Amino acid sequence: MSLHIPFDNSFARLPPQFYSRVDPQPVAAPRLIAFNDDLARVLRISPGEAQDMAQIFAGNDLPEGAEPLAQLYSGHQFGTYNPQLGDGRAILLGETVGTDGVRRDIQLKGSGRTPYSRQGDGRAWLGPVLREYVVSEAMHALGIPTTRALAAVETGETVWREGGMPGAVLTRVASSHLRVGTFQIFAARGDKANLQRLTQYAIDRHYPEAETPMDLLRAVRDAQSQLIAAWMSVGFIHGVMNTDNSSIAGETIDYGPCAFMDVYHPHTVFSSIDRMGRYAYANQPDIAVWNLAQLATALIQQYEDPQSAVEEATEIVHAMPELTQNAWLARFRAKLGITQAQDGDLELVTGLLSLMAENQADFTNSFRALTNGTARDQFTDPAAFDNWAEGWTARVQAEPDVEMVMMRANPAFIPRNHRIEQMIEAAVKGDYTLFQRLNAVLARPFEDQPDHEDLTRVPLPDEIVQATFCGT
Ligand code: AMP
Ligand code: MG
Repeated sequence: MSLHIPFDNSFARLPPQFYSRVDPQPVAAPRLIAFNDDLARVLRISPGEAQDMAQIFAGNDLPEGAEPLAQLYSGHQFGTYNPQLGDGRAILLGETVGTDGVRRDIQLKGSGRTPYSRQGDGRAWLGPVLREYVVSEAMHALGIPTTRALAAVETGETVWREGGMPGAVLTRVASSHLRVGTFQIFAARGDKANLQRLTQYAIDRHYPEAETPMDLLRAVRDAQSQLIAAWMSVGFIHGVMNTDNSSIAGETIDYGPCAFMDVYHPHTVFSSIDRMGRYAYANQPDIAVWNLAQLATALIQQYEDPQSAVEEATEIVHAMPELTQNAWLARFRAKLGITQAQDGDLELVTGLLSLMAENQADFTNSFRALTNGTARDQFTDPAAFDNWAEGWTARVQAEPDVEMVMMRANPAFIPRNHRIEQMIEAAVKGDYTLFQRLNAVLARPFEDQPDHEDLTRVPLPDEIVQATFCGT
């Protein structure tokens, strides 16, 4: 049986200025590593033989109905505007409308050069492909909006990075790949007609209740503020929050040097290229505002008189910090078992976080341990924790479902960075056991899974990952 994807492509119907039509470049010896049956069902994709699927998800065979293209965009990278980016190693095959009525992109990542590849080879190596597979699926299981992983293949070819690495292709699924940078390029080119077209397309696809570009801005702001609060609540650091990696749909997109924190510290950075700490854990809410301001700047270019929209746009952007803060506080209240807001909650949360930073407490394990009374063991000074816990215990007296609320807000399992590294190391040697195990365990992150206790363990000193490299 051969694989069938019920394509229904809308982006390909936009004018040619939005993309370049380009076919994936075939690879030598594709081998299917992973196929996500649960996601396939939602997408109405009927799986085929492994060998057929390997050919399709490597880009060697084009499934019927695919209209492959590379999308155009620009963006601010580490604060500096790059006027021309675009999919340099990704090709959109097309879209499907799922059983849930949601339209989603199906994209190959690592499928060869495109007109936007610049100096790049258009390829990906196994490491970042597996990292994105595991981490994006873990994010989904945590209930955080994200692109997802449908399939991964090894290409049987060597990709040259620091040395020769096994090549791979990830099939990524997203509500769309529209980015802040997609708007920026038309604004920068003064192409009002296409900027308007793009705005309407984004509204129709993601926020049909929006009527104006400013409504769209507001909707993106709300989605992004929820998203960032969700990241913060699980200790996730994106690593490269450039405007081209900032999704209009409000999903986590472009997993590169991302990671989850072990020991809590607000200044934590993993990305090897983020030398200034621009995208450190605690900076993420501010960066999201900065990115929204870039979207605002682009959107107002479509007004007859852009000045007329400046006031409204400014107001929308300025409201974002408070919205993120509220969403953040709601998330952290839940982590403490609180559903009914009270004065003093902010101090309770920040009090704990400060103690965690001072006591080098593990973020995930400390919160999880609050439920079973062992949290004090996570702190170098348990007495300081006891002192905080006294206030917390008093505060949650009147709360109805403390334990249940906490069990749903504090995962036992996150994709710890050292495990991801170990998983990649093994996979490069052909051993996919840890990859499979991580996927299975991280699909149920809020459940205790005693057989997999080892995956909750913090890294030993020699396991600590200092820097995470970009997905290139
Ligand atoms: P990123 O920040 O990883 O999303 O990538 C930034 C830009 O560089 C995007 O436009 C990518 O398509 C492009 N890019 C990254 N890696 C490669 C590669 N190996 N070959 C071609 N283009 C790439
Ligand atoms: Mg990107």
